[in-house]
Amino acid sequence: MKRILITGGAGFLGSHLCTQLIANGCHVTCLDNFITGSPRNVAHLIGNPNFALVQYDVTNYLHVPGELDAVLHFASPASPIDYLKLPIQTLKVGSLGTHKALGLAKAKGARFLLASTSEVYGDPLVHPQPETYWGNVNPVGFRGVYDEAKRFAEALTMAYQRYHQVDTKIVRIFNTYGPRMRVDDGRAIPAFISQALRGEPITVFGDGSQTRSVCYVDDLIDGIIRLLWSAETMPVNIGNPDEISMLDLATEIRDLTGSKSEIVFKELPEDDPRIRQPDISIAAGRLGWQPHVQRRVGLERTIAYFREALSIA
Ligand code: NAD
Repeated sequence: MKRILITGGAGFLGSHLCTQLIANGCHVTCLDNFITGSPRNVAHLIGNPNFALVQYDVTNYLHVPGELDAVLHFASPASPIDYLKLPIQTLKVGSLGTHKALGLAKAKGARFLLASTSEVYGDPLVHPQPETYWGNVNPVGFRGVYDEAKRFAEALTMAYQRYHQVDTKIVRIFNTYGPRMRVDDGRAIPAFISQALRGEPITVFGDGSQTRSVCYVDDLIDGIIRLLWSAETMPVNIGNPDEISMLDLATEIRDLTGSKSEIVFKELPEDDPRIRQPDISIAAGRLGWQPHVQRRVGLERTIAYFREALSIA
């Protein structure tokens, strides 16, 4: 049986990873300090003999007893609302936390997978973004705390691969959505859905023409697990190229919820990327991966989750 440690395992993506890896027959230790995640996200796994939950800050010295086959480093505030509120913690978990997680993988002879992000491409000047694009990031802007932490984390991961021969993988995750996102995490889809369900005005930033490409969580998890057990050594984009403008997304969500909310416009946040779309040829060609869940289907499942979370029948 493979033994896996997931930092940030009680977060949105981490909790889905814990669930899927256990379903695949692995033992999973979930390590989390609950700064943006919650034990509620893994409550369904408590009591499972193949699951252990440890409350811990990964930026501290890290020791885990026993063997490990893989360390997946997912700990990090991930939504702009969180990392703008927690700038130092975000920089620490991307730097010190990645260092500790890589050190653990090295000590155990385990493979290592870093959860990186499409934000390493910043406000991209190349569209769609292939892995070879170096990005257009403002290091001293407010969002720099997240983007540069992840860029540093990628550089450190490559250094451990090249100088310590750790078997490392880097996934560049594009916007992902699904059940267990926090209602108040400020990302577009949970914000639009909760506003629509509550009948409040739906707030779109700027004129809503900026685009995102949104991937349903099950597709993302499938891609990450394929990458984990692959022989890839360089970063791989995982995301759904299905690009949509924020205004169209807000309208679609309003229609799917049957809401009568009006759409209102607010000032665009600083350094908000204008466009975003993954080039997934590497994931398709080398991992045999592609997204399957249609946006409408994924949104309906997410809306059902939020109806329950918000107790709106
Ligand atoms: P999340 O906030 O739900 O999960 C992050 C988890 O990390 C939380 O449970 C939090 O408590 C934990 N954490 C933070 N700092 C920690 C620390 N010092 N020690 C231990 N635990 C800590 O966010 P998410 O959306 O699940 O994102 C998970 C990872 O995926 C992040 O690294 C994020 O950068 C990356 N990512 C996510 C997306 C997305 O669309 N959701 C896109 C790109 C990248």
